[in-house]
Amino acid sequence: MSEFSAVELIIAKREKGELSTEQIEWLIANYTSGVVADEQMSAMAMAILLNGMNRREIRDLTAAMIASGERLNFDALALPTADKHSTGGVGDKITLPLAPLVAVFGVAVPQLSGRGLGHTGGTLDKLESIAGWRAFLSTDEMHAQLESVGAVICAAGSGLAPADRKLYSLRDVTGTVEAIPLIASSIMSKKIAEGTGSLVLDVKVGSGAFMKTLEHARELAQTMVDLGNDSGVKTSALLTDMSTPLGLAVGNALEVEESIEVLAGGGPADVVEITIELAREMLRLAGKPDVDVSAALKDGRAMDKWRQMISAQGGDLSVPLPEAKHSQVLVAPESGVLTRLDALAVGVASWRLGAGRERKEDAVQFGAGIKLAVQQGQHVEAGQPLLTMFTDTPERFERAQQALADSFSIDATAQQSGRRQIILDRIAD
Ligand code: URA
Repeated sequence: MSEFSAVELIIAKREKGELSTEQIEWLIANYTSGVVADEQMSAMAMAILLNGMNRREIRDLTAAMIASGERLNFDALALPTADKHSTGGVGDKITLPLAPLVAVFGVAVPQLSGRGLGHTGGTLDKLESIAGWRAFLSTDEMHAQLESVGAVICAAGSGLAPADRKLYSLRDVTGTVEAIPLIASSIMSKKIAEGTGSLVLDVKVGSGAFMKTLEHARELAQTMVDLGNDSGVKTSALLTDMSTPLGLAVGNALEVEESIEVLAGGGPADVVEITIELAREMLRLAGKPDVDVSAALKDGRAMDKWRQMISAQGGDLSVPLPEAKHSQVLVAPESGVLTRLDALAVGVASWRLGAGRERKEDAVQFGAGIKLAVQQGQHVEAGQPLLTMFTDTPERFERAQQALADSFSIDATAQQSGRRQIILDRIAD
């Protein structure tokens, strides 16, 4: 590999220059091995945030991050594979009903997931609230479960895109998380290395999401769709609303409970809609466009798959889900329509109640979180519950209440609205 100087590359990007394929390969390989120092990579991340990268540079950056680790391969599997990635939101439990639902139709779902950090929850934390469920599977166990059940949700091994892990922690502490080339290459390097045949991205837009505006979300989605398709993974994206929480439940066991309602053919309309739309899109990309997705939620086939998927990883669904020891109700101060319930505030409150963690090594409280009594757009009477907070440690209520203080608006003159628009846009190749 050619030799470059990290300082010269930083200066080139600072001056709005274009980095060559060789320069990007050198930078990532040497950052992973420790030759390029954290402070140099921090400066480079900031230069990229300020000056951007073109499509070829982003593709090279993603390829270099994939090359830093191992790549999984599902070619030996008899079934086509499809995966979904959400950029993260409040009450976003969609992976739980979605993976078994798609598997019903003979498309295997290898869903490698993470834990929550900050105000957005992590799929593994949610599933670990089920007694006995195991997040860590070997590659052989994962393949065997995809053959026998067709769906697996498990922890991503540390061997996938290690350069991303290093770079992501650096971005977190240097104010460079929000750069589109860096977010896109970070997400897509892991997803491409995971070896799925097709991928649907759920790019969240609104206060509870990374991308606060539709314009930025569209740019991120298009960048990731291009990266996926350029690397041979059939990729498309839905842009979905994250200005208010998804469904009525926020928190680990609370979200598992709501997912089970959806799998039983019920559940909140917004959670059902987004689950069905993402399932249709995954099945379309995997070559099964004409199946009746909602029927599988109503007739118990998705629930059967869910039970198989959970028990294959040691989960015992006959054990009741953990419940928090303490609860506190927040009542509506006046009557009217709930015209605003802010996703970020609810996410932060749930996190402060113990559903999330401050540091990577913290434990989460499985029963902690928030259950909404009304969703945005619905009517509420003064003195009636707006939401209930749950925690095992009641001293947390005060800080959660502070997060919620300015989180909602009630308008006595507004009309109750119909279903809010959740799917805001689609991006296909
Ligand atoms: N998720 C990731 O994996 N990477 C990012 O940069 C942002 C969200």
